Amino acid sequence: MRTTWPDPVVVDRGDPRYADLAGRGINARFSPSPERIRVVATTGQTLRAVQDAVDGGERIAVRSGGHCFESLVDDPAIETVLDVSEMNSVYYDQEFGAFSVGAGTTLGAMYRTLFLGYGVTVPAGRCPGVGVGGHVAGGGGGALSRRHGLSVDHLYGIEAVVADDFGRVRSVVATREESDPHRDLWWAHTGGGGGAFGVVTRYLFRTPGADGAPGTLLPAPPAAVLRRTARWDWADVDEAAFIRLVRNFGAWHERNAGADGPGALLDNSLTLPRTGGGPISLETATDATRPGAQELTEAFLAEVGRGVAARPEVETTTTPWLTAVLTPDEYDGVKGRFKSKAAFLRAGPSAEQAALLHRRLTDTSGYHNPAAAVYLLSHGGAINRVGPRETATAHRDAVLKAYWSVFWWDGREDATHLEWVRGSYREVFADAGGVPDPARGYGGAFINYADADLADPRLGCADVPWHRLYFRDNYAELQRAKARWDPRDVFRHALSVRLPDGAAGR
Ligand SMILES: Cc1cc2nc3c(=O)[nH]c(=O)nc-3n(C[C@H](O)[C@H](O)[C@H](O)COP(=O)(O)OP(=O)(O)OC[C@H]3O[C@@H](n4cnc5c(N)ncnc54)[C@H](O)[C@@H]3O)c2cc1C
Repeated sequence: MRTTWPDPVVVDRGDPRYADLAGRGINARFSPSPERIRVVATTGQTLRAVQDAVDGGERIAVRSGGHCFESLVDDPAIETVLDVSEMNSVYYDQEFGAFSVGAGTTLGAMYRTLFLGYGVTVPAGRCPGVGVGGHVAGGGGGALSRRHGLSVDHLYGIEAVVADDFGRVRSVVATREESDPHRDLWWAHTGGGGGAFGVVTRYLFRTPGADGAPGTLLPAPPAAVLRRTARWDWADVDEAAFIRLVRNFGAWHERNAGADGPGALLDNSLTLPRTGGGPISLETATDATRPGAQELTEAFLAEVGRGVAARPEVETTTTPWLTAVLTPDEYDGVKGRFKSKAAFLRAGPSAEQAALLHRRLTDTSGYHNPAAAVYLLSHGGAINRVGPRETATAHRDAVLKAYWSVFWWDGREDATHLEWVRGSYREVFADAGGVPDPARGYGGAFINYADADLADPRLGCADVPWHRLYFRDNYAELQRAKARWDPRDVFRHALSVRLPDGAAGR
């Protein structure tokens, strides 16, 4: 790993670098004010920085890409932010026969180096600015996941800096090898969420069973992406047509939940904006170079659009893969206030749930924000080939992710926007206490789409423990890993795995 400077850099409030570093989080809803930021460029510097923080009794949080939805890093209680964004080298590591990706690397930089150097990739998120630091520990996944699984399904190991019972800090490598005595630390980072066990300094990627030349150790992405988008003007879509579209989308994913059929080759989304926020859009993407790609995407749009009287406007594009994945997300670089909520769905929304969404999206009697939307995103395929206990990501039975997002600028309007998104979520899952309870037919929630409401009994559901949503039956195992690797609870936030009852903590 390269060394940019000899020691961890400490940036305090008077330092001209402070504002840039303290303000790296993407959600303007939070007002971070850490005493200091420690910037580290190597594992050795991370050891020193964490030891100093632990010795000083500082409350710390780790930041990689800054794309957290909640204030897990930007919590005003945090005294020291450890910024790992300079640990960003990507290379083939001979020792492990795996690709080493520094924990501060952005997804875009990882995609670029793995693809240009070796023609391979890790199936990971859609936004190139997301950092691997938080993304991978939360499971990670995106456009190639129905085809190749989640990021953690290709995670061979991690290197992390952890603190023991006595506050002594050390660096550990933990791999998925059955014989590895540190295996539980690797497992905890396959969906247990970032910022809960230690500081990951690098991730090691190699697909299970692969052992050849570097160019064969991870999936090869397609050379080009074929994307087909159907857009319906809201004026042409009445409630019945809306419900039909949502139901068709769900039914298609129920029918194509497996990993082996041609449906697993498609990555799909249905964007349902509020009226005034643009058209309803149905998108599918696949490997443009595969024979039958055109027909597959056409058939998808026809099936999902069936019975919707209005004709959509259809756009088809073919883009080289790297260009496609490096295209910034619409929110990247735009720092506004936002709130997101999400759920895994084991079946498509019911007609009643679709009607509730329709009402929230079209009702202009008390709410006027066009920058609010609900997205249905494809899941399943190869993701569900992995057992719920094999990695810490227990959600291996969902066919869709539902994602609510609301975006605004003015802090005085917080309560209005928060109520819109919370109200919509609560009513859709009313039959399960207002949350997607896995014990009542839903799939739970996604730790990468952090939603602190779920751990707040006033905003979540007092009867459904937040960890059942995020970790389902893997929570007790995660707590054991927590007790072993972070017994002083140095790494903690609103959604971090708690120490088991009876463990001391700090
Ligand atoms: C525009 C956008 C698009 C997204 N798209 C996707 C997607 O397609 N798929 C998906 O799965 N997710 C997606 N996400 C969610 C994203 O994966 C999570 O928000 C993720 O946690 C962000 O990681 P980060 O390092 O950028 O964030 P940060 O805010 O830096 O960190 C997030 C959490 O991880 C912890 N953390 C960070 N680095 C480390 C480290 N080195 N060691 C230990 N803990 C660490 C932090 O302490 C914090 O708790 C998206 C988010 C955004 C904003």
